[in-house]
Amino acid sequence: MVPIAIGPAEREQIYAHARRAFPAECCGYLIGATECLVDGVVECRNAQEDGEHPARGADRGFVIAGRELLAFAKSFDGSQPARVVYHSHTNGRAYFSDVDQALARGPAYPVQHLVVGVTAERVTETAQFAWSADVAAYVEIARWTVEDTRGHS
Ligand SMILES: [Zn+2]
Repeated sequence: MVPIAIGPAEREQIYAHARRAFPAECCGYLIGATECLVDGVVECRNAQEDGEHPARGADRGFVIAGRELLAFAKSFDGSQPARVVYHSHTNGRAYFSDVDQALARGPAYPVQHLVVGVTAERVTETAQFAWSADVAAYVEIARWTVEDTRGHS
């Protein structure tokens, strides 16, 4: 499976969102007119913090809800549908957790997933996941280490 390309500008916006949301997990999605490239970031509010999902805290899950979920679902009927859903892990590690698998299972939407590992200091790594019908789960298809660029500007 080919990872949907995410350009440097979109990456920077996602990383900034992850740093801003810390210590909570951020979430959102990337839209694109074509199947292989995204060109817009839609930042969402992590509704996990509302406390309607008591099993998990904001640091261990994400929920897109309400108007934002409606806009996300409607995007699939438009010319720039959601292509990639992203969220952050505040332990600095990019992996698809059991909770992530459970939430994405189906797959409920035709999207890839990007997980961003972030710590109090910086974004550390990201990984991209796609649905595999063979194993009936999301599998990792790409991984990046994010260099610490502080002091190099
Ligand atoms: Zn996760």
